[in-house]
Amino acid sequence: MLELQGVSKQYPDGQVALDSIDLSLGEGEMAFLTGHSGAGKSTLLKLIALIERPSQGRIIVNGTDIGRLPRGHIPYYRQNIGLIFQNVQLLHDRSVFDNVALPLLIQGFSPRDLGNRVRAALDTVGLLGMEGKAPVQLSGGEQQRVGIARALVVRPRLILADEPTGNLDPELSEDIMGLFGRFNELGVSLMIATHDIDLITRLNKRRIVLSRGLLEASA
Ligand code: ADP
Ligand code: ADP
Repeated sequence: MLELQGVSKQYPDGQVALDSIDLSLGEGEMAFLTGHSGAGKSTLLKLIALIERPSQGRIIVNGTDIGRLPRGHIPYYRQNIGLIFQNVQLLHDRSVFDNVALPLLIQGFSPRDLGNRVRAALDTVGLLGMEGKAPVQLSGGEQQRVGIARALVVRPRLILADEPTGNLDPELSEDIMGLFGRFNELGVSLMIATHDIDLITRLNKRRIVLSRGLLEASA
């Protein structure tokens, strides 16, 4: 599903965020990405999402070397992985419905056909009935869940999440992790960066540990 071969990232200011990372995530596998603040977790996810480019190495997703994707394919590629970030960027002048529908519109769904998919995704995150609201009318946790619904609506085979529960209270965090676990049971691969060790100890999943840009453990 996902393979990193000798991946390094040095930012233009000289900061080395990742150093020769070799890593793979199997089809249907769920792994937590942990490590201290600044360890390189976000950078790793950004490289896979093609938000940043590696300085060295290759990243293969579903058999494709993503470094070789033509520029025009990048938005489409990104829409097919479920990207979930801590600071969701919702379109504030659009309704919750429109925000979640956007990836489907980009994929070419006709507006008539996407209603069920949008409602199913909102139902999954417990926000059915909120379609008509504007993001500003929602709490931070609800906005976070709209972001998750938007990532799920395309039914991605790979979900990348960066501190997805960072803004949520403990109960909601458990719900969201439970939700990820259910997607995993459906065969979806997930890589979830988090520093919430309490939350993940109970889940007993693979842990990938970064330390100062180096892979410390990936069992
Ligand atoms: P984590 O997600 O584990 O906290 P990051 O991937 O955000 O780690 O950061 C890894 C290192 O790269 C840190 O030293 C951070 O300061 C640096 N870094 C992250 N983004 C940038 C950037 N855009 N420019 C320069 N340095 C960056
Ligand atoms: P629809 O009737 O609109 O096709 P379904 O009821 O068939 O919707 O949806 C099935 C369930 O699958 C929904 O709860 C949906 O949220 C969920 N789902 C969302 N993303 C994925 C995914 N990546 N893989 C599998 N199921 C997903």
